[in-house]
Amino acid sequence: MSASNYYNTYPFKCYYCDSKDFGSVDGYERHVVTRHPNLPGYPGPADIKFYGLERQDMSWEKEIKADFEWK
Ligand SMILES: [Zn+2]
Repeated sequence: MSASNYYNTYPFKCYYCDSKDFGSVDGYERHVVTRHPNLPGYPGPADIKFYGLERQDMSWEKEIKADFEWK
C-alpha cells in the first residue's frame, strides 16, 4: 500500500544521525533502539522542540494524540 509521507509508519531518515533507508518500521525501530536508546523514535511536538530535531512531516510530529486530551 503506497502512502504519502504523512501516513508513513517510519521516517525516511533518522532524526538523530545520517542513517536512512531503513526499509521497514522494524528496521527503523531496531536502529533507534540500538543507536539512540535514550531518544524517542517517534518524537512529538515537544520532543522536536526539546531536541531541536528536523521535521519530516510525519503524523506523530503534529500534535499530541487525540486520546491524550486535557478536558
Ligand atoms: Zn540514527
